[in-house]
Amino acid sequence: MRLILLGPPGAGKGTQAERLMKKHGIPQLSTGDMLRAAVKAGTPVGLKAKALMDAGSLVPDDVVVGIIADRLNEDDAHNGFILDGFPRTVAQAEALDKMLAQKDMALDGIVELKVDETALLARIEKRARETVAAGGTVRADDNAEAFKKRLQDYRAMTAPVSAYYASHGALKAVDGMAAIDSVSQAIDEALSAKA
Ligand code: ADP
Repeated sequence: MRLILLGPPGAGKGTQAERLMKKHGIPQLSTGDMLRAAVKAGTPVGLKAKALMDAGSLVPDDVVVGIIADRLNEDDAHNGFILDGFPRTVAQAEALDKMLAQKDMALDGIVELKVDETALLARIEKRARETVAAGGTVRADDNAEAFKKRLQDYRAMTAPVSAYYASHGALKAVDGMAAIDSVSQAIDEALSAKA
């Protein structure tokens, strides 16, 4: 199963990707997680990405496309994957189409989590509080200012990605405002409706 989860920052993509990963035994490929790991490890990609990420800005397309191209070549991605946070621009979506075509792979589902914008900042702030309570480190971009930039970029750069997939007839929308279990169920239904 090869899936893409779309939706604004705070929509719950990571939470749902983790559940899908367990259910289907396929890896979650989160460009955000991979970039954070690169920042932590101080790799050239990480050094390039850090300031952009902290400010809530997008990392250049060629950087993330390169990361995904490498990741798709790893053994565990051969049986399927859940893309979370990628593609975030139409150029990334086009690059992904090319990569998959070269591998003779097709996508099985593209699911967009629909969430009221007014609920998103509260979710991000809740995540930051929970991280602190659990003794963890809050993401540098989980604050009101960086969030504003992330949402602006989402509207300008990532919403067109949904339109791109919708025009190919492949997009399924799910209500991301429902409880976590209900969202998971709706995703399952959307995916099996296709089969
Ligand atoms: P969220 O979905 O909560 O905004 P992510 O963890 O997916 O956060 O991403 C965090 C940051 O990593 C983004 O704000 C951006 O700077 C960078 N990033 C992640 N994925 C991409 C991508 N596909 N293209 C460009 N930048 C990305």
